[in-house]
Amino acid sequence: MFDCHRHLTSSPAREDALYCSYKKNEWNQSAPFFSLGYLALEETIDIHSLLCDMEEKIASNPQVSIGEVGIDRRIPHMDVQIKIFQEILHLAVQYQRTLTLHVVRETGGAIDLLKNQKQLPPLVIWHGFTGSIETAKELRKLGVEISLRPQVTRTKLVHHLEELNQLGFILETDWSGENDNGYEEVLNNHVKTMRELSNNEYIEEKCDDIRSILKDLQTNR
Ligand SMILES: [Zn+2]
Repeated sequence: MFDCHRHLTSSPAREDALYCSYKKNEWNQSAPFFSLGYLALEETIDIHSLLCDMEEKIASNPQVSIGEVGIDRRIPHMDVQIKIFQEILHLAVQYQRTLTLHVVRETGGAIDLLKNQKQLPPLVIWHGFTGSIETAKELRKLGVEISLRPQVTRTKLVHHLEELNQLGFILETDWSGENDNGYEEVLNNHVKTMRELSNNEYIEEKCDDIRSILKDLQTNR
């Protein structure tokens, strides 16, 4: 099954996952489905040069996606985060790339930013979603894909998975270990648990559809 969000490890990159990054020093990595992202973890950054570097990488690599990017209340300097998020969102629209979002405790703000866009990227994945059904409805209305990771079972959303299934969701491991030891087991358990809790037999097909969309976007560029 296609894993809709994970990170590279020392193990070889697989074909059945979207690999995301969030630091500039990860941008030279590669995978069949690789995504360039940035989260403003550093105190001081030169936003202009960051965005120029990212644009150059994206423009010269038609295969690459964008993400994870977003807003995280746990990280200081919200103004910098919002500015970077907006600019990268524009790059994703301009270059027609898939965009993976990382949002922590700033759901309303992130949704407003998405709503204020004239146009959204061709595919937007909200990774690690743990919000309410109401929020999920709003996101689905915007065409955003809702991706659930294994930790969702520890949140209130676990009681609403059948309802969420009516709206549609996809799965991810958000795997970021040293290597891939134990990866398959985590992925398989996640699929099994989510299939049972949401009463959805077709969840794997739904995730494989994301691979097809990514593939189409890559070949049609
Ligand atoms: Zn991640």
